[in-house]
Amino acid sequence: MPLYEYICTSCESKFELLRPMSRADDAASCPQCHNGSRRVLSLFASFSRSADGSSMPIAGGGSGCSTCAGGSCATCQ
Ligand SMILES: [Zn+2]
Repeated sequence: MPLYEYICTSCESKFELLRPMSRADDAASCPQCHNGSRRVLSLFASFSRSADGSSMPIAGGGSGCSTCAGGSCATCQ
């Protein structure tokens, strides 16, 4: 079940809920004040950012140097 992040429209506290995808946009009640909240879409973004971060250091495919990444500049020779 996916984890969704919500922010309370009254007290602005953030909380997370595990719920079926079909109910992702349903109103969730805030654990602090029990008012309505809206879904925040930032959680998925932060997940993919960390996934990218672990594979990024190999930019350029391993050939070339730190300045050109193509294997054809003066530093490569
Ligand atoms: Zn609240």
